[in-house]
Amino acid sequence: MKDTFKHQGMRQQLVRILESKGITNANVLNAIGKIPRHLFMDSGFLDHAYQDKAFPIAADQTISQPYTVAFQSELMKISAGDNVLEIGTGSGYQTAVLCELGARVYSIERQQELFKKTSKFLSKIGYRAKQLIFGDGYKGLPEQAPFDSIIVTAGAPFVPKPLLSQLKQDGGRLVIPVGDKAQIMTLFVRKGPKEFEKYEYGEFKFVPLLENKN
Ligand code: SAH
Repeated sequence: MKDTFKHQGMRQQLVRILESKGITNANVLNAIGKIPRHLFMDSGFLDHAYQDKAFPIAADQTISQPYTVAFQSELMKISAGDNVLEIGTGSGYQTAVLCELGARVYSIERQQELFKKTSKFLSKIGYRAKQLIFGDGYKGLPEQAPFDSIIVTAGAPFVPKPLLSQLKQDGGRLVIPVGDKAQIMTLFVRKGPKEFEKYEYGEFKFVPLLENKN
């Protein structure tokens, strides 16, 4: 599969759409302008890769809408070298954005099929996460904590405590969509051992964060 001038042109249009919807972080926009999203999709959806929409991938999951990816990435306020955890690797698109932003990325996926497929694919196209993990994101990744930021890319029925406790104490950020049918995008900023600031950013729709498979 190739990245053609046509794809690159469509990608720049997508970047402009995201700007018009209020995304301002230049690094995030650059990352989206650079990553060949069409390669992350099933072939049946290739023509739609640069629309600002979510699409189905394997195992009944979805590749998140570019606006959502950009919005969450912006809230994480990533600096190069940050230690970052993603829950829900899925297609690996968000993982690639985090790599492009210069983060050291750990990403957990609960479906083995997706874990295997995406692990192979990401290294094939040259995105090297620090580690992709087959496991349960509700537990986080205590052995690599603390994290500068954590992103959850599935709808969480509640905020898992381990994720809060694995944030850096001086300003660690958790970006998590919380709710059942629809989710409120929520940001927690850690200010001390037990102090968190909480901000809410309106409604988004995600596939559910599922419990207890691994
Ligand atoms: N970041 C992905 C979004 C994929 S959708 C992308 O850009 O494509 C959400 C993903 O979360 C799915 O792949 C789903 O299998 C995974 N998931 C659901 N519950 C999980 C859990 N408890 N731990 C880890 N991953 C989980």
